[in-house]
Amino acid sequence: MSDVPGVGMGDAATTVADLRQLMRAFVAERDWEQFHTPKNLAMSLAIEAAEVMECFQWLDAAESQRRGADPAYREPIAEELADVLCYLLSLANALDLDLSAAMRRKLVKNAVKYPAGEFRGRFERRPASDAGRERGATG
Ligand SMILES: [Mg+2]
Repeated sequence: MSDVPGVGMGDAATTVADLRQLMRAFVAERDWEQFHTPKNLAMSLAIEAAEVMECFQWLDAAESQRRGADPAYREPIAEELADVLCYLLSLANALDLDLSAAMRRKLVKNAVKYPAGEFRGRFERRPASDAGRERGATG
C-alpha cells in the first residue's frame, strides 16, 4: 500500500493520532462509517484478537516464543496485530475516545492494583472480591 502516507515509518516516528487519521481516511474513502458501529467494531476487534491467538494455538510457552522469533511467522503475526490495532483505532474513532489518555489512566489504576514492590516477578489472582474480573496487569 505505497499510497498510504507514512508507509515505512515505524513506531518511533508515528503518533497514535497519525494512525487514527490513517484509519479515519481509509474508512471514509470506502464509505464504511455506516458499518463502523461500536458493536461491529468491538466484535471485529475480538475476532482479530482471536486470530492473533491462532498464531500460537497448540504451542507450549517455549514454542510460542520460538514462533514469535521465527522470520517465517513474524509477518503473519504482525499482520494480525495490525488488524487488531486497526479495529481498536476505528473503535476509538467511532466513540471519539482518547486512547492515550485512557491508557495512561488505566496504567495508573493498574499501578495501584498491582504495586511493583508486591508484584515484581510474580503474578497471581487477586482476592475473591475481584473474582470474575480479569487476570493480568492490563485487565
Ligand atoms: Mg486478521
